[in-house]
Amino acid sequence: MEEILKVIELQRKYFASGKMRDFKERRKTLKRLRKNILSMQNEIYDALYKDLGKSECESYMTEVGLSLAEIRYMLRHGKSYSKKRRVMLSLSQFPSKGYKMPVPYGCTLIISPWNYPFMLSIEPIVDAVTAGNSVILKPSEYSPNVSKVLTKLIGMTFERGHVDVINGGVEECSYLLDQDFDYIFFTGSTRVGKIVMQKASEHFTPVTLELGGKCPCVVDKTANLKLTARRIVFGKFLNSGQTCVAPDYVYCQEGIKDELIKHITAEIENQYKDSLNNEDYPRIVNLKQFSVMKGFIDNGEVIYGGKCDQEKLKIEPTLLDSNFESETMQDEIFGPILPIVTFKEVDEAIGNIKSYPKPLALYIFSADKKIQKRFIEECDFGGGCVNDTIMHITDPKLGFGGIKQSGMGAYHGKVGFDTFTHYKSLTKKGKFDLPFRYQPFNKLKYKIIKLFLK
Ligand code: NAD
Repeated sequence: MEEILKVIELQRKYFASGKMRDFKERRKTLKRLRKNILSMQNEIYDALYKDLGKSECESYMTEVGLSLAEIRYMLRHGKSYSKKRRVMLSLSQFPSKGYKMPVPYGCTLIISPWNYPFMLSIEPIVDAVTAGNSVILKPSEYSPNVSKVLTKLIGMTFERGHVDVINGGVEECSYLLDQDFDYIFFTGSTRVGKIVMQKASEHFTPVTLELGGKCPCVVDKTANLKLTARRIVFGKFLNSGQTCVAPDYVYCQEGIKDELIKHITAEIENQYKDSLNNEDYPRIVNLKQFSVMKGFIDNGEVIYGGKCDQEKLKIEPTLLDSNFESETMQDEIFGPILPIVTFKEVDEAIGNIKSYPKPLALYIFSADKKIQKRFIEECDFGGGCVNDTIMHITDPKLGFGGIKQSGMGAYHGKVGFDTFTHYKSLTKKGKFDLPFRYQPFNKLKYKIIKLFLK
């Protein structure tokens, strides 16, 4: 723990040195990060394979590629975001100039999970560094190979005190959370999110919480079922279902259930042939998670799949016949198990979704624009797609974050820059003075004040 205190002290000194006030310096580090990621690609793929069995293509698409895209975006826009902006003030301020001045929070703590251990560490670092902060990263103990690569990459890229890595588990993370950071950015479970928020409140530290939850995937009777199935299978079984925005369950209208299952089954066979032996199909992160998933299968009504290989920690893409009382419907699944639940009427479906905690994502597959609009407007959720899954998180321009139980705050692109930025509001005054605000007040001053402020 002494090491942690030393690193924090170093970070405070580094931040106070003011080196990162100049955007040119931030740009240099972003460029170096990009160069080093590219030169270490094979080590990154190797680590992701060791920790999660991810193929190179999936690793590029969902981890390395997205991180590079965020760096590219910030290299393009970061300078403009970092500028002090003139604001036209109201007449009551005359004569004065107004400004909004973006300033970094200072020493920030970023805590990341194991499921996309590279991307979910690098993307918030990119946003934090673009905004001029220093960062301590605490990666997950459940993806140790990626943590090792991250430690090397960050050591090669950033000066000590600017971005540092503290490895460890719950004990180290709790200790970090007891310290006084200027901002905490946490990605992980709702359970730990609550602990983070409690601890942060001790120091009045602002937080962003990127959490999880049960993301509904609604399919109504007008949907194009073949395309729907294809996109559901893509979003659900990517990373073996260990994705915070994966469709947690399919909520389909009665009458199309059998047809939809037929198409989903065909798509699984198409995209994940012989999944237990398929090198491109990731594994479950550890035996504990594997056992939870196996329990769902053993206690559920399997429609398709259900085979498991404990030695390889792999589980087939599995469909379960379910309802809201089923075991799988009580909490976030976070694995390759897809319950199919049905509804009769749209009102019933919206009512049920609203009775659950607010999800991180919602997907609505429908050809009917009025139905699409109802789900989008009446349900609360972090973000989502109409007639697709997951794709809303891939563009930095859209921003990404949850709501209430699925999180607070957001990042990616400009939203990410804003997350790690405090905007100082400033007015600059000249000598000329309008005297009516000063005591002693009289009727005329009161009248003038009322004229300006209404
Ligand atoms: P987790 O909450 O168990 O762990 C996340 C981090 O918190 C890890 O670094 C871990 O070391 C630390 N931690 C764990 N227990 C702690 C404690 N008691 N005190 C202090 N720190 C603690 O989450 P996970 O299992 O790594 O990740 C899976 C969860 O993350 C899922 O719920 C998933 O939905 C969510 N998630 C959300 C997003 C998002 O962007 N919203 C992305 C990925 C994952």
